[in-house]
Order: sequence, then structure tokens, then C-alpha cells
Amino acid sequence: MLENGKTVTIDKIEGFSSGAIEFSVESDDPLFAKFKKIKSARLVQFSDQYHKNEYGKYLPMNPVLAKEAITMIINFSYAISHPLYYDTFMNFDRYKKEQAATAGTAINGALNWHGNADDVEGVYDYLTKAQIEQAYNTYIDSRTLNMAMVGGDSAWGGGPLASQWESGYVTGHWKGEMSIWSHEYSHHSGYNHSSNLANSGEGGGQQEMLTDFYKYLISLNDLPFTDPDVLKGYTKTAYLTGTYKKPVFTINPKNTFLLKYKGEGKWN
Ligand SMILES: [Zn+2]
Repeated sequence: MLENGKTVTIDKIEGFSSGAIEFSVESDDPLFAKFKKIKSARLVQFSDQYHKNEYGKYLPMNPVLAKEAITMIINFSYAISHPLYYDTFMNFDRYKKEQAATAGTAINGALNWHGNADDVEGVYDYLTKAQIEQAYNTYIDSRTLNMAMVGGDSAWGGGPLASQWESGYVTGHWKGEMSIWSHEYSHHSGYNHSSNLANSGEGGGQQEMLTDFYKYLISLNDLPFTDPDVLKGYTKTAYLTGTYKKPVFTINPKNTFLLKYKGEGKWN
């Protein structure tokens, strides 16, 4: 399908079996070049089952929120595909030390990634290096993700579902406030509150690391979308329940990634 709505038809090519031919879209557009780097293979979709079955707990997406959700998931998928994120994920023990040094404290809680088994008096079910690699691959594998809108008190994630509030879709992600999204995405990826992949305590695990990383990428302008005015969702009041101002991004000068990489590490 072309931008003008016309479809492209490709005539039979003699001498090849259909399985031997691969088509790919190529463009020198810089935004498209960023899309091509995304390794995450999630099938992302909206599903009306949530607001139809539990109206109020979930609400329908509308065109304004759907555009924000698509923008956010493209950015998030780019972030978790980023070489710097992969390096930090694979060396989370190193990040924990850097995080503690930044805070000027001892390491808070677990020293590295640990799984869903309950902690017993500070004894964690630490993942092996191979299991950490597996956890990373789970984050970017080809499972289906249903994005939903929260209407009630709590955002939820699990199975194919990850959800968040209107404010997260309209303004939060532009400011890098990705903690809740990261938490629900981890539930969707199979992690419980007993794992620091989905636990906001003890230095925040994935939630804090991803959020700090995401903010660092915004500061580098190293995400596909960093300008909220590409959508101006916050001005489309007829589609919104809350009232919003234009989101303004700031980064904490003590951000662990900013202190370590000092403007370096852009994905080029
Ligand atoms: Zn949770």
C-alpha cells in the first residue's frame, strides 16, 4: 500500500520460487532509518475486548490516544532495541553499582536481575548470564501486545495486555515518565512483583533503569519521536478526559546514564 492509497502489484518473477524472494521497504528518510533499527518483533495492536468486557476499568482508544500510543510504543521498542540498553541489561550488576554510586549509598536490594521466585531473607533467585540473555530476548520477541487505556484506578499488564492512563499516553511519555509502562510491559513479558524486572522497590529494577535510560535518549534526541508537537495530542481536548499542558522534558543532572555517558552513546 502506498501513501496515496494505491496498492503495489509485483508481476511473477520467472526463475525464483516464491519462498526465495524477500521484499523489504527501503528509504533514506531519517525517521524510517530509525524504524529499521528496531529489533523488537512484537505484534502490537489495540483490542476492544478490555473496555467491552470491563467498561470503566478500561476505556476505548480514540484517534488522538491511539496516535499517542503508537508513537510511544515505537519509541519504547526503539529504546529496548538500543545497543546501550542491551549492554546495560546484560550487565545490570554493573548498573546497580553505578546507580548506588550516583546516589551515594550502598546497593539497594538485589545485586543483579532475579526471577519470579520469592526472595527469602535477602536470598534472590539470580538469573545466570544465559537466563539474562533469555530475558532480554523475551522483551523483544514476537508475542502479541494489546495496548489498552486505563479508566479506573490501576494500570494492568499480563498475558497480551499492557495498559496505562490517558496522562501517560498524552504527556507522560514525552517527558520520559515510562516507569508504569515499563512495569506493565514486564508483567506482559511474564514477570511478577517478586522479580526486579517488575518491582518498583529496591532501586526500582527495570522500572528505574528503563526510565533513566529513556530520559537519556530523549536528551540525546535519539528516539524516533521527541517533539510532542508532531501530534499536539495535549491540545485535542474534545478527545480527552483530563486537561493537559504541553509536556516539557527535563533531565535530572544526576541521571545515571547522563553521568556515565555524558552525551555519548547515540545509536548511529
Ligand atoms: Zn504490577
